[in-house]
Amino acid sequence: MKNCPDLATIISYSSGALSKSFALLVSSHIEKCDHCRRNIDRCCEMGGSFLDAEENTALENNSYALFLDKLEESKNTERQLSVKDTFDKSSEVPVSLQRHIGRDLSSLKWSFLAPGIKKCSVKIDEKENKHLTFLKIKSKKKIPEHSHLGSELTLVLKGSFDDENGRYMAGDIADHDHTSRHEPVVTSDEDCVCVIATDGPLIFNSLIANIFQSIARI
Ligand SMILES: [Zn+2]
Repeated sequence: MKNCPDLATIISYSSGALSKSFALLVSSHIEKCDHCRRNIDRCCEMGGSFLDAEENTALENNSYALFLDKLEESKNTERQLSVKDTFDKSSEVPVSLQRHIGRDLSSLKWSFLAPGIKKCSVKIDEKENKHLTFLKIKSKKKIPEHSHLGSELTLVLKGSFDDENGRYMAGDIADHDHTSRHEPVVTSDEDCVCVIATDGPLIFNSLIANIFQSIARI
């Protein structure tokens, strides 16, 4: 795997601090990236030894009961998933995303965004109104240059794109913060499908791009 999330993103993921949309993309990436999985294991080990060192941590009286409740809850969820869902590891959709979009990218409800670009927004958390934006972009097409108010993770599911940082292939993640400005171009012969998680609106940097943004509302 050539392009991985920043170490700061990996540390946040390990500590459970990432929002659900970001965490889903990192989970999808580490399904095929041993390098990041090892880093996450290391972070978890460091976190565990830090907790061990906190000898004076006061536990609430009902901590153990709460722990047992959580354990039972997670067992029930696992049971429900194993009955309802069968995941396909050979699919181009990572297993982490299959429970939200199924196994087949063509089953997404794509809508027109701009010439050569289709979009599909998938809600992944009703309570927090979190969603992921999927883009399907034709070969040689450009996404207008943009920057962000917050962070952005882009995971490639199919095909490839280039930006000023290099080439991103299926499984790669582009990890951008608010200082980034980038203008990806699809370099594969086939359509490029990628999924984007953001915590702030994208800012397009030209008039035409602003019109694009108002149509796209991403
Ligand atoms: Zn990685």
